[in-house]
Amino acid sequence: GLTTATAIEEPIQPPVQVNHTQLLINGQFVDSASGRTFPTLDPRTGEPIAHVAEGDVEDVNRAVIAARKAFDGGPWPKMTGYQRSCILYRFADLIEKHNDEIAALETWDNGKPYEQAAKAEVPTLARLMRYYAGWADKIHGLIVPADSPHHVQVLHEPIGVAGQIIPWNFPLLMFAWKVGPALACGNTIVLKTAEQTPLSALLVSKLFHEAGLPDGVLNVISGFGPTAGAALASHMDVDKLAFTGSTDTGKIVLELAARSNLKPVTLELGGKSPIIVMDDADIDQAVEVAHFALFFNQGQCCCAGSRTFVHERVYDEFVEKSKARALKRVVGDPFRKGVEQGPQIDEEQFSKILHYIKSGVDSGATLVTGGDRIGSKGYYIQPTIFSDVEDKMKIAKEEIFGPVQSILKFK
Ligand code: ADP
Repeated sequence: GLTTATAIEEPIQPPVQVNHTQLLINGQFVDSASGRTFPTLDPRTGEPIAHVAEGDVEDVNRAVIAARKAFDGGPWPKMTGYQRSCILYRFADLIEKHNDEIAALETWDNGKPYEQAAKAEVPTLARLMRYYAGWADKIHGLIVPADSPHHVQVLHEPIGVAGQIIPWNFPLLMFAWKVGPALACGNTIVLKTAEQTPLSALLVSKLFHEAGLPDGVLNVISGFGPTAGAALASHMDVDKLAFTGSTDTGKIVLELAARSNLKPVTLELGGKSPIIVMDDADIDQAVEVAHFALFFNQGQCCCAGSRTFVHERVYDEFVEKSKARALKRVVGDPFRKGVEQGPQIDEEQFSKILHYIKSGVDSGATLVTGGDRIGSKGYYIQPTIFSDVEDKMKIAKEEIFGPVQSILKFK
């Protein structure tokens, strides 16, 4: 059953220390140009874990200059794909070696269960790096048969300095999906991490340098979206922008990229993914799958199964069993063994989710279970289920990004 509020209010001391809080520019940890810092908060309590250098326009400029220099000269552009792959493989080995330390830092900053960070997210970071490392020496061009006496050849070359902006829900997977391919292909990077979770990227980027990554190839800026993020998106000397985050911010960065140097942009945005349960499904299995699809990572997934459509003939049974499953969900301090759900990332998301729950009630959906916070500090929310949800309701249309399952009926 739910962990009691009192158990939540005695946070476990994380088995890790914060060693890196500065910006990483040109292979060096440095303070921000302004000297300013901001606190990164523990989602279990809302209290600061550490004060982190706050990057802004001037820091982004310095980082882009370093990335440009590393792209145009120095060891990086002279390396073969194979040599780059060796660095990525060594990095993956170091991730494995430091698995538990990285996972603890991730749990502390993000609130996700330690067991998931240690057994899934961090090992997947290593695995993804090996996947991209494998590509580094296999990106070939193309020879095109020409109907004229010409030799037509397509070459794939790195694009240059990549600006990358990532969110807080899977800080290390986001790191892997952005940094891995860009480096395998020979680009250099300025990465802007999410202000909620700046810590793990700094630690793993240091390990990347230990693995042999040349200075300036990967620069990491902690800071806020409208300042550091916008500076990167609108920078005239950034050749490509990759962004993962909310749909609204995606629109902003696409426009900033267009208004500056028309850099190409890759966007990975929000979602409202359906799960469809037919009347001949194995109901127990369907309940478990739909439960995981929505509640995994505190519901903070762009691909969360946030609309569960269930056939009318099995609807009542499905709702009853989903309720029983939600009531069994173990919510608690993410460092505690056996915990399935930790706190939401921050005050803003926490309030937004509670607001959506209220909207669900107001619009006439049936609150089957949950609906409130747990405890009086930190950002814990009860696993919540609505039945009788209809397409037109806000909770069926907008991304909630929290532990709130909506079950809709179909014929
Ligand atoms: P959420 O916090 O809901 O995931 P955001 O899209 O706000 O979604 O955040 C994702 C990333 O985008 C974060 O790194 C954030 O700092 C950054 N960001 C937010 N606003 C802007 C902006 N105006 N320009 C550039 N980046 C931004």
